[in-house]
Amino acid sequence: MSHQDSHDVVVIGAGASGLAAATALHAAGRDLVALEARDRIGGRLLSAPTSNPERALDLGATWFWDGEERVRALTMLSGIATFDQHLAGDSLLQETTGTRRLTGNLMDTPSRRFTAGSQAIATALAAMLPTESLRLNEPVTAIHMNGQGGLDVLTPTGTVHAEHVVLAVPPALALERIDFGGALPADLVRLARSTPVWMGAVAKVVAHYPRAFWREEGLAGAVFSRTGPLQEIHDMSGPDGEPAALFGFAHARTVRPGFEQAVTAQLARLFGPAAATPAVLHVQDWSAERWTAPSTVRHLADHSLFGHPLYQRPALDGRLHWASTETATDHAGHIEGALAAGARAAQSVLAASSSASDVTSGVTA
Ligand SMILES: Cc1cc2nc3c(=O)[nH]c(=O)nc-3n(C[C@H](O)[C@H](O)[C@H](O)COP(=O)(O)OP(=O)(O)OC[C@H]3O[C@@H](n4cnc5c(N)ncnc54)[C@H](O)[C@@H]3O)c2cc1C
Repeated sequence: MSHQDSHDVVVIGAGASGLAAATALHAAGRDLVALEARDRIGGRLLSAPTSNPERALDLGATWFWDGEERVRALTMLSGIATFDQHLAGDSLLQETTGTRRLTGNLMDTPSRRFTAGSQAIATALAAMLPTESLRLNEPVTAIHMNGQGGLDVLTPTGTVHAEHVVLAVPPALALERIDFGGALPADLVRLARSTPVWMGAVAKVVAHYPRAFWREEGLAGAVFSRTGPLQEIHDMSGPDGEPAALFGFAHARTVRPGFEQAVTAQLARLFGPAAATPAVLHVQDWSAERWTAPSTVRHLADHSLFGHPLYQRPALDGRLHWASTETATDHAGHIEGALAAGARAAQSVLAASSSASDVTSGVTA
């Protein structure tokens, strides 16, 4: 059934950035709806359950670092359990000529992890919103200026009228999937089409084992590889090694038939025969995710476009506000950047709507 409704604000995308914008706008008393294309929240925060309901394995974002105050504050506020990334042990350097053991962990820097997986960040933010403010399975297909000074946001099931829209989708993806009716300025279109999607061309592989056997050999689980298919590998076990897991990144272009066998063979060469048979091997190819990666994702490489000044200004007569980690001026690419961009977009909506009400009430007249 087709629906038509009106809200002060439509937030497009329920990843960390969209949810951060939505919670800030809701806290400021704005009537909003967040439209999410997928059947789940979190976007690039995606955690696979394990047999322990309180622990999960991250298939998207894994770590946060010192100085990422928004993430830290949210974990404190929402009681999200965190722990230190395991660092102890030696690292490995894998070259075509063989593997060298290097004393100490030369790969990993101190960081923190989310015990229940990073998707807990999205769950915590969504819990601050009224349930009816969040609609799943609602991909936005078009945004049009409606002639009465607002925006019409179209999905396959209906139209939502809004005074303001927060676009919390990677810019290049937004330009590929959403029809703006030619209303965006040419420099903004060029910029958005050229802005990389952080980690969008990467496959993340998580090998879940019965125990962290590499630690028993004094290994940190940290590898830099010049042979692949995994180019870097890290220990991704939970607190006290439970659940036990290693993860690695590969270029998405290497994910072809035979990829899983190539990965387990690489892990066995590095960590011995026990590594050849993980209990579960997750392969998450983000470049194949329709709601993360545009078709151009492998060709977008100019990360200097992250946080570009054009993203800091609203478009479409001051009604379209950019979010997503790619638009952040600090910590772009990280969860921290996604939260910061969402907060900035919410501020931008509040500033625009309060100046509009000042005009209506004659304050600035
Ligand atoms: C493999 C990997 C590892 C990473 N590791 C780390 C890490 O260790 N630490 C860290 O800080 N960061 C890491 N990141 C980055 C981190 O995940 C992102 O910065 C953050 O999750 C981005 O949030 P976002 O809301 O900006 O975008 P997204 O999470 O991409 O959210 C966008 C949302 O919009 C939805 N959407 C898209 N198009 C539409 C549409 N047309 N209509 C409606 N909804 C739409 C999507 O479904 C999605 O839910 C990693 C990312 C990946 C992929």
